[in-house]
Amino acid sequence: MGFLRNLGEVFTILKHIFRQIFKRPFTSLYPFEDRPYPERTRGRHIHVRQNCTACAQCVRACPVLAIRIDKADKMYEKDAALYFDYTRCIFCGLCVDACRFDALYHTPIVDMAEGEREDLIYGPEKITTLDREPLEWRGRRFR
Ligand code: SF4
Ligand code: SF4
Repeated sequence: MGFLRNLGEVFTILKHIFRQIFKRPFTSLYPFEDRPYPERTRGRHIHVRQNCTACAQCVRACPVLAIRIDKADKMYEKDAALYFDYTRCIFCGLCVDACRFDALYHTPIVDMAEGEREDLIYGPEKITTLDREPLEWRGRRFR
């Protein structure tokens, strides 16, 4: 009886193993593949300087003073450079809501870890593009 019961348990385990083998994997090859996030995810921002009018409404709306504006730095007729401090940002979305000129958006990019705090301040070069350096093997991990 004991043998038959053990055999039954072995078959139950094998049934679970085969069922899992043929299921679609739940994992993704992160960080080599971006994970899919919902369309309305409030990740890092992107600043569209062509549309910006330097009105500073985004700066005024920010409850944690995470945005700095430099009106002297112009690429177009009316725009300004923005600096986002992601050590302060709480991703509330108020700055994006405040912008009436389609110049500020959230992106679904949420993996923004850096080795140095200063690198989490995104100046005009970083905040206007979504380009990211490809990950490289450095030391004991990909960065
Ligand atoms: S998302 Fe919120 S906290 Fe972050 S910069 Fe915009 S207003 Fe400030
Ligand atoms: S991003 Fe929008 S709210 Fe901020 S300064 Fe430019 S136009 Fe004004």
